[in-house]
Amino acid sequence: QSDRPDIVIVGSGFFGLTIAERCAADLGLKVLVLERRHHLGGNAYSERDPATNVEVHKYGAHLFHTSNERVWEYANRFTTFTDYKHRVFGKYQGQVYSLPMNLGLINQFFGRSHTPDEARALIAEQSSEIATEDASNLEEKAISLIGRPLYEAFIKGYTAKQWQTDPTKLSADIITRLPVRYTFENGWFSDTYEGLPTDGYTAWLQKMADHPNIEVRLETDWFGSDVEAELKGKVPVVYTGPVDEYFGNSEGRLSWRTVDLQESVVETGDFQGTGVVNYNDQDVPYTRIIEFKHFHPEREKTHLPGKSVIVHEYSRFAEEGDEPYYPINTAEDRAKLLKYRDLANQEPMVLFGGRLGTYKYLDMHMAIGSALSMYDNKIRPHFAEGVELKSGGVDA
Ligand code: FAD
Ligand code: UDP
Repeated sequence: QSDRPDIVIVGSGFFGLTIAERCAADLGLKVLVLERRHHLGGNAYSERDPATNVEVHKYGAHLFHTSNERVWEYANRFTTFTDYKHRVFGKYQGQVYSLPMNLGLINQFFGRSHTPDEARALIAEQSSEIATEDASNLEEKAISLIGRPLYEAFIKGYTAKQWQTDPTKLSADIITRLPVRYTFENGWFSDTYEGLPTDGYTAWLQKMADHPNIEVRLETDWFGSDVEAELKGKVPVVYTGPVDEYFGNSEGRLSWRTVDLQESVVETGDFQGTGVVNYNDQDVPYTRIIEFKHFHPEREKTHLPGKSVIVHEYSRFAEEGDEPYYPINTAEDRAKLLKYRDLANQEPMVLFGGRLGTYKYLDMHMAIGSALSMYDNKIRPHFAEGVELKSGGVDA
């Protein structure tokens, strides 16, 4: 059959589109991408808000950053990046602090000036109650890194709201990446490259899919589709949806947190003076407020005056039908994941990838990087050299 695709990709997020683009542009394959939403791009999708002409990231604020040279070079084939540098501020008991933990925050919080050495000595003393290598949960890990007073102000309440779980029951990994700096440097990321796509995320994602060999079929669920009925087991499929859903939740549902994004237009040209303000007090119900116009100061003239779009974020346990955002990854989840991995390894001609397909919190650069690896290690050898396709791809 001449119109039969060589490969089917389920999901048009960064993972799926990276595979699609490589297969079409590098191997000349005919690629069919199925996407159940009404738009491509997965969670990085964004659109202009009509009331303000501000670009809004519809599934939560997305900031691109990477230290991976290959991913940076690859991303730059489809978009240029602005020089936006992400900074986050935190409100606690009526004061605003500059995050992450840095010399400015330490001085302000303790109400006096410290040299870097004095601040180091202070935090060393305050964190001495637990050694980092002995920390077995998030609370202990945080206290071992920054001491109890800073933990209680900036981590405890925020984490309780984000995870609705006692921090002594959460994995220490969650905050491994929170840096403590003994300088005034307050950039949120420490990567080599950082920026926002000049013409927005959707333009970038569309450019990746813009190839005569790629067809993207929107509002088409793989499950129950003609494509599934006709091609499953016959052509390679790269599945980037939830792995538990693929197997009909046979081993039980994997647990996720979702975020309710409450978007509103406010009657002021500037609501909070910056892109992200975290609310660290536990009694404020939302975790943070995003004001999107600040992500693109270079577009100021195109934004409509006197108004701004803001989004309050509320985190909660995902129920059936909610968007899965953050894998909770309890011991039970990991046990289920091992069983799904065995099933995935036996599923003929199907590769599992991406955030949902592997049940991993992947930043965009990681989703792109792991798709490039899957392409190099499995897909290209299969099509170019006839190597047998090994199913699977779910790590546990
Ligand atoms: P997704 O983008 O989730 O794409 C999967 C696609 O598959 C979806 O479009 C879905 O509709 C589709 N699909 C699923 N099942 C089916 C089916 N059965 N049939 C058809 N289609 C299906 N990363 C950063 O680098 N920086 C950030 O600042 C950042 N912020 C984030 C904030 C939030 C709130 C969240 C949740 C994530 C954030 N990320 C961020 C991570 C980023 O969203 C992911 O790296 C990226 O979405 C991963 O792409 P993916 O292709 O794996 O998955
Ligand atoms: N965190 C915190 N206070 C903050 C910011 C982060 O306690 O002001 C903790 C919290 O447990 C959160 C984790 O650090 O889940 C990761 O935060 P980050 O902002 O990187 O998460 P994101 O939601 O952006 O992925």
